[in-house]
Amino acid sequence: MTVLVFLDPAHADGRVADASQPQLMISDLGATRGDGIFESLLAVGGAPRKEQAHLVRLAASAEALGLAVPEAEVWSRAIRTGLREFAAVEPDREKAVVKLIATRGVEGAERPTAWVQVAPVPESGRRQREEGLKVLFLERGYDSTVAQRAPWLLMGAKTLSYAVNMAAIRHAKAEGADDVIFTSSDGKVLEGPTSTVLLAHDRDGVKTLLTPQLESGILAGTSQGALFAAAKEQGWELGYGPLEPHHLLEADAVWLISSIRLLAPVVSLDGQEIRSSAALTAELTELVDRFV
Ligand code: PLP
Repeated sequence: MTVLVFLDPAHADGRVADASQPQLMISDLGATRGDGIFESLLAVGGAPRKEQAHLVRLAASAEALGLAVPEAEVWSRAIRTGLREFAAVEPDREKAVVKLIATRGVEGAERPTAWVQVAPVPESGRRQREEGLKVLFLERGYDSTVAQRAPWLLMGAKTLSYAVNMAAIRHAKAEGADDVIFTSSDGKVLEGPTSTVLLAHDRDGVKTLLTPQLESGILAGTSQGALFAAAKEQGWELGYGPLEPHHLLEADAVWLISSIRLLAPVVSLDGQEIRSSAALTAELTELVDRFV
């Protein structure tokens, strides 16, 4: 079941509410315009993973939208309340998804609506990590320099406007695939609808991990950031795009990484089987389990 905690100035640790009952005003701009931001993070054994990185990104998204959201400390307390309640109702679940959501609030109120929800981790993630992902390249429709020219497009912010991302995944599923990698109109590899793209080379004893460069208007993945830091410690070389589809087809392995599904290998791109490496996946999964 889902636990719900509203951030409420009258309740220092957050106000627990009944997630099975209506709780949001129909004039909330998050509902009527998708005007808001969110984060999804994993909790293991009642402890949130890389909480700071998510709170920093939430603050950056809020800044991009001009949203005055509560301080990190207030979110932290509500997260703890949510995880405590979740452990009480779901004592056998080791892992949970923690969502942080802030909208522009009820129309005219000039005050954001903010809440934390804690729910079970979907079962599909484990299967996709084990079986790998069939991925389609789909156009995002922007060029890779638009983020710098057009900040109002909110390219690097994690906004609630995910209808397009979800439609892309539905399109992939209708075509018999599992997931998507977006490409820019100038032919660069961007990101998945809910994940960051990684690829590896293992040549002459040198292992290199690459990801598209942030300036291409993608979300800064907290999982990619944490994995890169850990891989560097282990002697991996790191690289940042620009990447094109042929780089993925030529790589020794490609993955999509994100906070809840974690590291999932890509097994085909546009129907073409690509190289994968059980050894590299195992090595990186061990780092993910410890550091992501
Ligand atoms: N890119 C997009 C568009 C996402 O929505 C997400 C996460 O949902 C990611 C990348 C991966 O980010 P993280 O590793 O912080 O979960």
